[in-house]
Amino acid sequence: MLTNSLIEMDRQHLIHPVSSFKGHEARGVRVLASAKGARVTDAEGRELIDGFAGLWCVNAGYGHESIVEAAAEQMRKLPYATGYFDLGAEAPIKLAAKLAERAPGDLNHIYFSLGGSDAVDSTIRFVRYYWHSKGQPNRDQFISVEQGYHGSTTMGAGLTALGGFHEGFGVPYSWQHKISSHYTYRNPLKTDAEIIEASVNELKAKVEAIGPEKVAAFYLEPIQGSGGVLVPPKGWVKAMRDVCKELEILFIADEVITGFGRTGPLFACEDEGIVPDLMTTAKGLTSGYVPMGAVFMSDHVYETIAEGAGAKAVGHGFTYSAHPVSAAVALEVLSLYEGGLLENGRKVGARLMEGLKGLSDHPLVGDVRGRGMLAAIELVVDKENKTPLPASVQPATRLFDRAWEKGLIVRSFAQGIFGYAPPLCCTEEEIDMIVARTKAVLDETLEDADVRAALKG
Ligand code: PLP
Repeated sequence: MLTNSLIEMDRQHLIHPVSSFKGHEARGVRVLASAKGARVTDAEGRELIDGFAGLWCVNAGYGHESIVEAAAEQMRKLPYATGYFDLGAEAPIKLAAKLAERAPGDLNHIYFSLGGSDAVDSTIRFVRYYWHSKGQPNRDQFISVEQGYHGSTTMGAGLTALGGFHEGFGVPYSWQHKISSHYTYRNPLKTDAEIIEASVNELKAKVEAIGPEKVAAFYLEPIQGSGGVLVPPKGWVKAMRDVCKELEILFIADEVITGFGRTGPLFACEDEGIVPDLMTTAKGLTSGYVPMGAVFMSDHVYETIAEGAGAKAVGHGFTYSAHPVSAAVALEVLSLYEGGLLENGRKVGARLMEGLKGLSDHPLVGDVRGRGMLAAIELVVDKENKTPLPASVQPATRLFDRAWEKGLIVRSFAQGIFGYAPPLCCTEEEIDMIVARTKAVLDETLEDADVRAALKG
């Protein structure tokens, strides 16, 4: 059978991202064959609702002919144009202008990458160049947030604060520092104001400890994604932005997940009316149809770098920066967002939250959180003590598989969190199916012997 031979080829040759090599060999691949809207079909013909939009990226949903046409037309006309040697092409120029127009404040300058990791990596290089240009080359220390994810390049993985990206890889570097996450559900501080104040004070103390004249920048995600969909208290992002201004360090918002309608507006920074010095995006920019990321740079960062470099080239760039096919796709994707998808996402996002909140009484649901079309439920066996599921459950496989059997793809985090990031095109009926299938997974999990034993205990 075709599927069996694919599984065998995959086992022998394809290295999967962030996977246990041995675990994957044992489990084998599930082959996805086609998709339309919010639904994917596997090679055996099973239809599933994609509650995670691929990897929180297919924001527009699958199967838009207009996106396919935009890519095909660009490929026919001009499949590649370098940005080196002062050359360019129409699509990336138009896209940069459009993004600058839609971005918060004076984020008027766009550098295109191939995805999120190299967008983050690019900001590290630009930030260093910025401080060098200002005559402060010793400002080379970077701060990010525990539970944060900023990609998997060597430098970005050091800003990332998830152990699996560090162990065995020799990161983080000594110039990469962290402050605690807000993680409200497990934060011993109870009120929003207390949590915000503690984070502000911790950042100030960290900068003081490193040496205020050495700190270059602070990175955050408006909502922490890969750390478990951790939503900060309202006002937290703004407070962190303000304190960076006070400390005179650059503030970088990593909107790789939250950008392009995921939380409601085009960018999550708009939720709190803030303008970062730099912003990173990817994923929803092209809705995952082709790879692309973008660094948004504010006027003052751009002008400082331009001044600093003078006639010299700023030595940073990739062969595929500002790829015309990706740019043509992004332009079409943007017009779909603005042509109704953002609005639909806001509408069905509210329904998703309402539906998941409706599961709060379930014995296994400790917390329900989210904003827009980004949500999570955190599973526990003891609500009062917030005791996680027993280790034997291995949610990343057992609960993922169970959801799959019920026709639902969710991100099943190892610590017992279900993450949701459905395409913005979902219908209300599909949202209800996501919630109903989740409930079916939880009900069945309640019957597992190890879960029942832990619940009783
Ligand atoms: N930054 C954030 C906040 C992310 O969530 C991710 C990926 O999930 C990245 C950076 C890295 O993006 P990519 O996987 O496209 O390299």
